Amino acid sequence: MTHLPTHTLDATHDPQLSSWVASANRPDSDFPIQNLPLGVFRRGNEPARIGVAIGDQILDLAACHRHGLFTELPSDLVVALGDTTLNRLLALGRPAWRLLRQHLSALLRHDAPAQTLAADILIPQAQAELLLPATIGDYTDFYASIVHATNVGSMFRPDNPLLPNYKYVPIGYHGRASSIVVSGTPVRRPNGQTKAPQAVQPQFGPTRRLDYELEVGVLIGPGNALGEPIPIAEAEQHIFGVCLVNDWSARDIQTWEYQPLGPFLAKNFATSISPWIVTLEALAPFRTPAYPRPQGDPAPLPYLFDPADQAGGGIDLTLEVWLTSQQMRAQGIAPLRLSRGSFREMYWTIAQLVAHHTSNGCNLRPGDLLASGTVSGPAREARGCLLELTWRGEEPISLPTGEQRRFLEDGDEVILRGWCERPGFRRIGLGECRGMILPALE
Ligand code: CA
Repeated sequence: MTHLPTHTLDATHDPQLSSWVASANRPDSDFPIQNLPLGVFRRGNEPARIGVAIGDQILDLAACHRHGLFTELPSDLVVALGDTTLNRLLALGRPAWRLLRQHLSALLRHDAPAQTLAADILIPQAQAELLLPATIGDYTDFYASIVHATNVGSMFRPDNPLLPNYKYVPIGYHGRASSIVVSGTPVRRPNGQTKAPQAVQPQFGPTRRLDYELEVGVLIGPGNALGEPIPIAEAEQHIFGVCLVNDWSARDIQTWEYQPLGPFLAKNFATSISPWIVTLEALAPFRTPAYPRPQGDPAPLPYLFDPADQAGGGIDLTLEVWLTSQQMRAQGIAPLRLSRGSFREMYWTIAQLVAHHTSNGCNLRPGDLLASGTVSGPAREARGCLLELTWRGEEPISLPTGEQRRFLEDGDEVILRGWCERPGFRRIGLGECRGMILPALE
């Protein structure tokens, strides 16, 4: 496999570069020509196909192929781009991904001849149904924010909030791929077993402590053969890009079921992801050093330590959670921002997650999803779930309607947003990840 550095800047990152798609040049667009995230969409009854978000439009790659715009690309890449999921493209690896980025940038730049085909190759995002970008074979959820781990730990174990393994082991658990849904899919309040502290027996019924978790997802590229760990220095070669993840969680079910084997039905009823995968190439200008470990913390063990990862394994990605209630929408009140945090503050880098996951020989496959765990920072406003924001419901949040929230109510819609900005570069965004809560089944 050819290894390419993931932090290289080139002409595709030039902040002066503009597109013939006018909406992409608006300063507040998540999808300028410097971004070029990939996803899968469908219009009406037409077949699903791969597209690229550009401004408020989608570049339809199947249509580009029909118009002969891919004749310079290698045939395996062209075949992958004609598929109905990103999996084949994910398997091709970074050299193909980089070639594709160069090609898409050239097709969409302000002076590209392809603009004469705009009516045939562009589809307004408003007319498209966005689908899951890949067939996700396996899903693993980590716990990479030390602030989140400490906050949650202190609620359950006030004297001993952070377990002794935390600073050595990137903690994770195997999630459920079958219930991963794309942004916009409603989420039904789950039923489950809960037990009030004083109750003699548990009861079965709708969760009363439904929560979101603000996370970042990593979509895996080529992956590794069973038994062959991915060394940390190569880990980013296996990361195609990132998206937003909402790991919906039923806290009362979780509290009763989680010991001794960890989360199960409290988490696997739904996980929402944003539809557009922002590539590591697009994120190159926004890479930062790994989280600086406080004095006295152990260094990562050698298999999790790589100088390049320490120097640039972080991502300066701002993340927000917004909420609307049914009443807010009925009264025409705009969504309320609940929190804002940064992915920079995660204790483990995405490369460390990949290296750790495969360190025992476990194989990752194209289209696997790794999620970071709740992104929480030290500031109160940077807490990435309601469990932390309302401190187990003890400090409710007031909505503009006068309603209060300890946990999510039916009709609430949670909106995750994420973007990167840095002086001298064009701001890029991850778009949105939305989900509205439906009442539990009787
Ligand atoms: Ca989680």
